[in-house]
Amino acid sequence: MIIVSACLAGVECRYNGQEFSIPKIIEMVKKGQAISLCPEILGKLPTPRLSAEQYDGRIFSSDGQDLTNQYLAGAKVALNIARLVGCKKAILKSKSPTCGCGKIYDGTFSGKLINGDGIFCKFLKEENIEVYTENEIR
Ligand code: SF4
Repeated sequence: MIIVSACLAGVECRYNGQEFSIPKIIEMVKKGQAISLCPEILGKLPTPRLSAEQYDGRIFSSDGQDLTNQYLAGAKVALNIARLVGCKKAILKSKSPTCGCGKIYDGTFSGKLINGDGIFCKFLKEENIEVYTENEIR
């Protein structure tokens, strides 16, 4: 089974209350080839919410609150779901502090990217699950 970031499947769960639909990913979910989830919603974070970025291994909102525990809690629930459905591949939203793969924002809220993975992406990679972003399948 393939896991996809819910915002890529049209769910309005991004920090700004919007989605980031990719038609091909919506089709995969409709055909039962993939299931969508949002680790941040699973972590009981509200929508909309302040944007957040990783800094020094922790996750902070743009007003400086350390929200690492909530983000970690959601990523762990999402990982359990991935295990439950026998996930082998995932397509996750690029650049997110949770779902980002390979590149994430640097924690200064200035738009600068650095090498790194979102926390959910990191958990999946640790389980040898292949992770892609929407950019690789578009
Ligand atoms: S946590 Fe992932 S699925 Fe949820 S809004 Fe952010 S990028 Fe999309």
